[in-house]
Amino acid sequence: MKIIESAKEMQEWALSHRAKGQKIALVPTMGSLHEGHLSLLREGKKLCDQLVLSLFVNPAQFGPNEDLKQYPKDLKGDLHKAQDCQVDVLFLPTTSDIYPENFQTYVDVTELAQPLCGASRPGHFKGVATVVLKLFNIVQPHVALFGEKDFQQLRVIEQMVQDLNLPVEIKPMPIVREADGLAMSSRNKKLSKEERQASLTISLSLAKAKMCVDQGERDPQKIKEAVQATLEETKKITIDYIQLCHPKTLQPLPLLTLPALLAIACFVGKTRLIDNCILR
Ligand code: AMP
Repeated sequence: MKIIESAKEMQEWALSHRAKGQKIALVPTMGSLHEGHLSLLREGKKLCDQLVLSLFVNPAQFGPNEDLKQYPKDLKGDLHKAQDCQVDVLFLPTTSDIYPENFQTYVDVTELAQPLCGASRPGHFKGVATVVLKLFNIVQPHVALFGEKDFQQLRVIEQMVQDLNLPVEIKPMPIVREADGLAMSSRNKKLSKEERQASLTISLSLAKAKMCVDQGERDPQKIKEAVQATLEETKKITIDYIQLCHPKTLQPLPLLTLPALLAIACFVGKTRLIDNCILR
């Protein structure tokens, strides 16, 4: 596995492999890898000749009071996992390479970035879209893989690719969960034993919503109340939002039309977790 730290070297590598007619897959991550990330890597390996994993904790997508400094890091573990997944290039850019002095160009996906996490984390998706566009320009992938765990992020990137005619295929990947249902996330490492236990109510509340819909419930308010009641069974959880929305526009649904996206964000202690499912 080749390790590249400079954006210039990464771009030269990408252009030379493209010139040889090779297909490049990119999996962008913030590191502290888990099975969710690895599922993207395994699929990327199948789809392309060269697999690039980027590992960059992007300061532009963190707000001033968020956990940029406390974001979990495990470079040694990541190196082993990347090797096991037959990553060809591990791209580890420095912050000053991605955001050099006098950096001033940002990507703003205006509508999709507004609701849900965009409302709670102003500027978050501007940071995400900007870094992903930069990674696309540097790594020149034919295919880039993103998890549905970050559903709004996936939609923002799909929109950016469409709006800006980017020559890259976006491959959405299903949410990978722990055996007990908790969606895998690097932030799960930050949970205490009690918080880890409490976090189970998140996936349970999604299951509860699915059950309500299966039983014929079509009032979004009633479904949200059932989700809220499940989450409130533990005192360790503070709800940020529970929203039923259109899976393409992410606009809230005043009347339930299926398929619908049920998206949840909450704090378990100080750790912010998100999860979602599609109600059909
Ligand atoms: P992150 O390192 O959290 O920025 O995530 C990097 C990529 O992995 C994003 O496309 C995420 O959506 C994806 N990802 C994170 N957690 C999961 C999961 N549990 N299942 C599937 N994909 C995931």
